Amino acid sequence: MTAIVLDGRAVAARLRARVRDQAMAAGIVPSLAVVMVGEDAASRLYVRNKTRAAAEAGFREQTIILSADISEAGLLAVVRRLNDDPGVDGILVQLPLPSQIRPQAVIEAIDPGKDVDGFHPVNAGRLAIGRPALIPCTPKGVMTMLREAGVAVAGARAVVLGRSSIVGRPMAALLTLADATVTLAHSRTRDLAAECRRAEILIAAVGRAELVRGDWVAPGAAVIDVGINRTADGRLVGDVAFAEALPHAGWISPVPGGVGPMTIASLLENTLAAALARRGVVVGCPA
Ligand code: NDP
Repeated sequence: MTAIVLDGRAVAARLRARVRDQAMAAGIVPSLAVVMVGEDAASRLYVRNKTRAAAEAGFREQTIILSADISEAGLLAVVRRLNDDPGVDGILVQLPLPSQIRPQAVIEAIDPGKDVDGFHPVNAGRLAIGRPALIPCTPKGVMTMLREAGVAVAGARAVVLGRSSIVGRPMAALLTLADATVTLAHSRTRDLAAECRRAEILIAAVGRAELVRGDWVAPGAAVIDVGINRTADGRLVGDVAFAEALPHAGWISPVPGGVGPMTIASLLENTLAAALARRGVVVGCPA
C-alpha cells in the first residue's frame, strides 16, 4: 500500500476561495490586525504570509510592528486599542514574544470575540465543552484536511502526540467532539510507539524531527504531521519519517505543503467567523 499524500496547498487554496466567496455573499469586508513585536525573521515571514492571504481574500489587514524592547504595559495598551476599535474584527499577536512580556497576559487581554488565534481561555473553555468558539487555527486546519480527504473520524481510534495549548490539546478536543476515541500522548507517555501503532488517525505535533518511524504507523492509518523542524543539514522535516511511513499509511500529510497552509486558511475562516459574530451571525459548533 502507498498512502494518499494530502495536498495541503490545494485544500487550503480551495478553503481560502470559499472564505472569500462567503464574505462577499455576506456583504462584509472582515478586518484583521496582526501585531508583531521585534523583527524576528521567522515571525516576519509568518506574519507576511498571514496578511498576504488576508489581502488576497479581500479582507482589510494591518500589521503593527512594535519595538523589541516595548514593555508589557505598552503592548497591552495596543491590544486594548484594537479591542475598542469597531473597525477591527480579528486580532492576532504573533508569538513568541520577548522575555519581558508574559504571553499569557497578552492572550488574556485580547477580546475573546476578536481572538482569531483561539488561544484565549474563554475560547479554549468553549471548545472544551463543545460551544461555538474561535478554534486554534492549526488543529482546525487538520480537521478540515481530514474531512476533505474523506477520513472517517467518528468511532476511530485517534492518537495525538503533543499536548500544547495551541495544537495538541485543542486537537484532542476537536477529535473528541467529532466522536473519535482519543489518546493524548506526550513526553511522559510510557510506550509511544505502541500507542501510535493502535492509531487509525495519528496526529504528530511534537517538534522532534522524524520521531515517528514507519513501523509506528498502523496499516491504512491517516497520518497528519504538524511538526516543522530544521535538520542539521538545513532540510525542513516533520515529526514523521515521511518516506518510511508512506508504505504503511492510508493518508499522509507532507512537510512542507501539508498542515502549514491549512493553518493560514483557518485563520481567514476565524476572521470571517469573528466578523460575522460581531454582526450577530453565530457560526456553528466547533466540530
Ligand atoms: P510545544 O513544544 O509547545 O509542545 C510539544 C509537545 O510535544 C509537548 O506536549 C511535549 O510533551 C511533547 N513532546 C516533546 N518531545 C516529545 C517526545 N520525545 N515524545 C513525546 N512527546 C514529546 O510545541 P507546539 O505544540 O507549539 O508545536 C509542535 C510542533 O508543531 C512544532 O514542530 C511546531 O513548529 C509545529 N507547529 C506547526 C504549525 C503549522 O502551522 N504547521 C503551527 C504550530 C506548531 P510535554 O508536554 O510532556 O513536554
